Amino acid sequence: MSGADEARNHLLRSAPRPRLFLTYLAVVITAGIGLLAYAISTVSRGDISAMDAGQILALGTCLVLVVLGEIRPVMGSSVADPLGVTLSTTFVFPVLLHFGLVPAVILHAIAAMLAGLIARKAMVRNLFNVAQYVLSAAAGWLVLAAAGIHPTLSSTWTPRSIGDLLVIVVVGVCCFVVNDLLVATAIGMSVGVSPWRQFLSDLRFQSTVSAAQFGLAPLIAVLMEHAPAFVALTVVPMYAIHRSAAASLRSEHLAEHDDLTGLANRKRLITETSEAIAETLRTGEPCALFLLDLDRFKEVNDVLGHPVGDEVLRQVARRLKDTLRPEDTVVRVGGDEFAVLTRRVRDVDAAVTIAERVRAALDAELVIDGQLIDIEGSIGVALVPDHATEYEVLFSRADVAMYLAKADRTGVEVYDSARDANSTSRIGLISGLRNAIEQGEIELHYQPKASLRDQTVTGVEALVRWNHPVRGLVPPDEFIPVAEQSGLMHRLTDVILDLALTQVADWGRQGMTVPVAVNVSFRDLLDATMPIRLAQTLERHGLAAELLTLEITERVLTADMDRARLTLQALCDLGVRLSLDDFGTGWSSLRLLRELPLAEIKIDRSFVSRAAVVEEDAVVVRATTRLAHGLGLHVVAEGIETQVAWRAIKDMACDTAQGWFLARPMPGPKATEWLAERLLERVPATHP
Ligand code: C2E
Ligand code: CA
Ligand code: CA
Repeated sequence: MSGADEARNHLLRSAPRPRLFLTYLAVVITAGIGLLAYAISTVSRGDISAMDAGQILALGTCLVLVVLGEIRPVMGSSVADPLGVTLSTTFVFPVLLHFGLVPAVILHAIAAMLAGLIARKAMVRNLFNVAQYVLSAAAGWLVLAAAGIHPTLSSTWTPRSIGDLLVIVVVGVCCFVVNDLLVATAIGMSVGVSPWRQFLSDLRFQSTVSAAQFGLAPLIAVLMEHAPAFVALTVVPMYAIHRSAAASLRSEHLAEHDDLTGLANRKRLITETSEAIAETLRTGEPCALFLLDLDRFKEVNDVLGHPVGDEVLRQVARRLKDTLRPEDTVVRVGGDEFAVLTRRVRDVDAAVTIAERVRAALDAELVIDGQLIDIEGSIGVALVPDHATEYEVLFSRADVAMYLAKADRTGVEVYDSARDANSTSRIGLISGLRNAIEQGEIELHYQPKASLRDQTVTGVEALVRWNHPVRGLVPPDEFIPVAEQSGLMHRLTDVILDLALTQVADWGRQGMTVPVAVNVSFRDLLDATMPIRLAQTLERHGLAAELLTLEITERVLTADMDRARLTLQALCDLGVRLSLDDFGTGWSSLRLLRELPLAEIKIDRSFVSRAAVVEEDAVVVRATTRLAHGLGLHVVAEGIETQVAWRAIKDMACDTAQGWFLARPMPGPKATEWLAERLLERVPATHP
């Protein structure tokens, strides 16, 4: 096969097929309506005037019941299953058996058309429904004729023997199969699923309900002959069937769907994926699984409350549905994790295009109760047969890809076996960190700061440590970047702030007022909910905002200045002090110093440590300090390791010192001891 042929074949197979679908509709409608027209033309005035009162009553009753049955299908509109079951068959089928094809199709056509008009369905759909009923009745009639039974208005047939019953069973099956195949083909074509699959997918339920309906038919035929007035009574058992079928359908739906969003659930995903995999292996057309995780959901839920969180999930579900084709399966896997199964994707590139579209849809802001909520999603993609041919493997590969998408902040990642191995340790770190946060393995060490003028303690900086059960104390440089890249940073910062403020409150109870500085990441500042959360935490601990300094690095300011600026202003309005950390190492522009609501700068330890020995560094420190003072900012020199450095920095007019010379970062209890000695017993912080 040439490349062009292959491409054409692909198109034929995977593009929606409107032309083929329309042709199919046209053929069915023409055949059905043609047959109906012929049936009507065979009815003569004589036939009608020859009917007796009992026949008129029987037919009239059936007409009313068929219309009712059509108007109230078993499947309500909430259960969006297009293969709806109606109970009209119960009353049309006995007409077919007793009075023959012509009255049966006319009756059903009138009922279907009336119900369609009442429900304002599209005319094509009404015509198709009429045609579908006519054709399936005709199929049943052929079986009857083959058995030598030719009921008509003037010579009716009433079943009597076991043999008759057998014929009725075959006729019923035949009507049922033709009817459902016609519908399944239409649905299959319009949504791009194989008609046979569509047919089979609903077979069990359809056949149970149909068996009950067809089973009643011989009895109704007998009533038509002997007691037409009683035909209406059969509505009672039919109503019971209607009720229980609807109920069972609803519970079946609930078992496979998520209450909150109405999307399918994991159980359904497993079934559908397994089917899709089987289809791929048969046809060679790839299918793809996307796993999608909302990066910011937990905070939204925590800060804005569950009702808002629920609404976010509902809106995300709606967006996913709107962005994808109707035949794609959209699933809420749990929490804030979603999955999408798409069948018949051309290749990896096509899958990525779809995933990008989904992500773009999520990126648009959500508005809930007038609040703007910014949700980000990361999507991992895995394909059958490229990456897996089993559900579990496929799912875990999509999961690996999703973690990479999160970690690398790329948004969308396709599974890549080459990266799997080296990413596992990273993924291990991410999930380990997530656990660590939940399980209290995160702790803080405190490093004091003191005034260069009079050696009094001015506060502490909180520095995070991960107390890993196996690795011991893990330094922040190893896991902060991972947290930043995986969406865990907000959570981590919340924990850190809470720990720090708990400690400050504790010191307060011991009679020590100790301001604390906490480092925040640039990701924290891109989040408008951060100041709200912080205000809540301060209130919970009963602490004044002035006791808290937040240290930000210059990186913040390069990332997304405008968003960060809003958050910084909100923090400043709270009364929290802001400090620009590592000053001198990044792109700090003088403009930033003026524009941001800062209270202090921390001169980076690379300058501080050299300032005592290298004149150029001394010049930088001196000039920076003068500039900062000119702008009303407090100056902290960090990384003072020796007495020489302490003296030199003091001479350069810095306000506060921090570094090993004063003290190393210490765990809480040790820091408490250190502070108590100096604050309560008034021992000088150091003896330079
Ligand atoms: P940083 O904010 O510049 O923190 C100062 C770092 O210098 C700390 O390292 C501290 O232990 C170290 N240090 C203090 N005095 C001296 C000294 O005299 N000499 C030398 N050589 N080093 C000194 P640490 O604790 O490993 O923290 C490293 C970085 O990790 C921090 O740099 C900060 O950027 C980040 N970090 C630490 N804790 C947190 C936190 O709670 N949240 C966030 N977002 N980042 C944190
Ligand atoms: Ca710092
Ligand atoms: Ca620093």
